[in-house]
Amino acid sequence: MTDPGFTPWPAEFVERYVEAGYWGSETLGGLLRGWAARSPGDVALVCGPRRLTYAELDAAADAMAAGFGARGFGPGDHVVVQLPNVAEFVVALFALLRLGAIPVLTMPAHRRAEIVHVAQVSEAVACLVPNRHEGFDHVALAEQVRREVPSVRSVFVRGEPGASVSSVSSVSFGGFEDLADVPVPGARVDDAASAEDVALLLMSGGTTGRPKLIPRTHRDYAYNLRAAAQVCGLTERDVYLAVLPIGHNLPLACPGVLGTLSAGGTAVLAPAPSPDVAFGLVERERVTVSSVVPPLARLWVEAAPQDGRDLSSLDRLMVGGARLDVGTADRVQEVLGVRLIQSLGMAEGLLTQTRPEDPPEIVRSTQGRPMSPADEIRVLDEAGHPVPAGEVGELWTRGPYTLRGYYRAAEYNRLAFDDEGFYRTGDLVRVLPGGHVVVAGRVKEVINRGGENVSATELEEELLGHPAVAAAAVFPLLDDDLGETVCAAVVLRPATPRPPKLKELKAYLRERGLARFKHPDRLLLVDTLPLTGVGKVDKKALAQSAARV
Ligand code: AMP
Repeated sequence: MTDPGFTPWPAEFVERYVEAGYWGSETLGGLLRGWAARSPGDVALVCGPRRLTYAELDAAADAMAAGFGARGFGPGDHVVVQLPNVAEFVVALFALLRLGAIPVLTMPAHRRAEIVHVAQVSEAVACLVPNRHEGFDHVALAEQVRREVPSVRSVFVRGEPGASVSSVSSVSFGGFEDLADVPVPGARVDDAASAEDVALLLMSGGTTGRPKLIPRTHRDYAYNLRAAAQVCGLTERDVYLAVLPIGHNLPLACPGVLGTLSAGGTAVLAPAPSPDVAFGLVERERVTVSSVVPPLARLWVEAAPQDGRDLSSLDRLMVGGARLDVGTADRVQEVLGVRLIQSLGMAEGLLTQTRPEDPPEIVRSTQGRPMSPADEIRVLDEAGHPVPAGEVGELWTRGPYTLRGYYRAAEYNRLAFDDEGFYRTGDLVRVLPGGHVVVAGRVKEVINRGGENVSATELEEELLGHPAVAAAAVFPLLDDDLGETVCAAVVLRPATPRPPKLKELKAYLRERGLARFKHPDRLLLVDTLPLTGVGKVDKKALAQSAARV
């Protein structure tokens, strides 16, 4: 079925990607069927004490699909999924995919603003939520969503729905158990989807503005997860630890849980990313590979030397989602004893990765090469002209797994895509002679200080070189005179005897030879940097705290 909110690839590209073998006729629900036939008795998913074989996962997805079907859900229905890393997430995902319903994937840390917005835009008919997660009452949030978004007619709660629900009469609150989340032998559900259909909607990762919805089709996402698994060299012997919330593209499909399943491996779902929890699972499940964002990589590196647990099985660690400084890149390899894979990824599509065969210098200092030979990238200046080779410009891209338009966002799409279908990433990069991409920042993270451009990324790297600085985030503050000024939020190293003053930091930057206009105008000392739902530094929250001080 065609949805007018979805921008399809033009026919010539469809032909090209099908002919080259990137796109097949499989649906995501069909892939699980194939994986279950290939290795029915192997463990697909581990969550707490629960271990699901491929056959059990396949059957559980059928059973839940039947449950959704019996409640009137079917092709084209949008369902907001806001579950933590639990087996039901994966079961529900495949159940909805098989019905041709479209999961709208969010993260547990999202709150009213994000969930109401995506439910409205997608005209969601149901929400899947935990009852509580990290002390937050998700049932109360779901009630609020239901009140504000009339299309939402059902809420399914993992765990007991809770007392607050009794006051709600016009919406069906059901438990997951009601959906028959129990393998029923032989209860196969026919796949109602086709490869070219939109399979799911992901949320754009921007830390500013309203999130946009990213349509991913069955065939482009199937290619995404298969290609990412190949580039990372995943096999059936791999055990992947999902520590980031799996509603995010990176731990879900780059290669993440789905890429691991496509390779025949085992995906272990961690309830939290902290070293405390994650290291225990690495030891218990003999985890071989995981993916983290840089703030988490730093946390693991700090915790590992004092941790007595056996991390020797961990072989590869993918770090992406935000820029990794070279210092941490080195320490990840030295301290954790893993092979580092750097990756620039976006829910919109394009994924670059360093390869196991890349020289060490490339692995520590670049974000790798595009995953697919069919990825096309352009590095352009502000006027839309290609920059000279090796210079910094904005990254534009198109390819067999990069969207051609955000969902139901015709107006915004005119800015975000050019006439040839290239997506404007907003990322500033330079490309080395071997094709390796180095991220230099975000277009929006270039602070315009009275007409002078200050790169937040560059200043952050400089600040990290100061002995007292454990972490730094640089962002603009609105200013009547200059338009924007530069604010640096800094976390100090624990043993710092006396916090440095702003003027001392400036003196340090001057010594390092950094132009004066790039020095911070304000210093904000913080205990920790606030993080977004997936664990990236939340600069919007920092700017709000700076405005309050
Ligand atoms: P998301 O859709 O949440 O994955 O966010 C995508 C954005 O995260 C990209 O457009 C980049 O701005 C940023 N990002 C992802 N990976 C990296 C990386 N390795 N280095 C710097 N920025 C990154």
